Amino acid sequence: MKILAVDHTRCTGCRLCEIACSLHHDGVANPAAARLAIVRWEEEGLHVPAVCQQCDVAMCELVCQPHAIRRNPATAALVVNYELCIGCRMCVIGCPYGAMSVHPLGRPVLKCNLCDGEPRCVQFCETGALQYLEPQAVSFAKRSATARKLIGGES
Ligand code: SF4
Repeated sequence: MKILAVDHTRCTGCRLCEIACSLHHDGVANPAAARLAIVRWEEEGLHVPAVCQQCDVAMCELVCQPHAIRRNPATAALVVNYELCIGCRMCVIGCPYGAMSVHPLGRPVLKCNLCDGEPRCVQFCETGALQYLEPQAVSFAKRSATARKLIGGES
């Protein structure tokens, strides 16, 4: 099962991922309607994509009283069923990563569903800051980067 992997060192802050996300889900180019967010520290030149971790023990799922958030067994993404959602927004408050937000256009809340296994943010991220990988590949990449640093090379 793949996961959305972030390498913030590659993020330029172009926000194409946010546009691709909102266009795919809502048909509008509106970063506020995206299911991920680029957190920016302008002075430091840092851009960090904040994405849903699809947690194994997911607070959004646990706090949702009408059980409107369920895992899609095909992708392992936690998905909001808007037919059941009552709009209490407890999931937004409960997420420890701030990965959920209030929808600016219509539906009560925004939550990444991994685009049913074809994340548009990844497809439009030209630098590779966002990738959709097997978990083992993420671990391997981090180990390689750490090993390179230990021997004095570039990460
Ligand atoms: S806003 Fe909807 S999805 Fe979120 S906790 Fe409330 S009912 Fe569940």
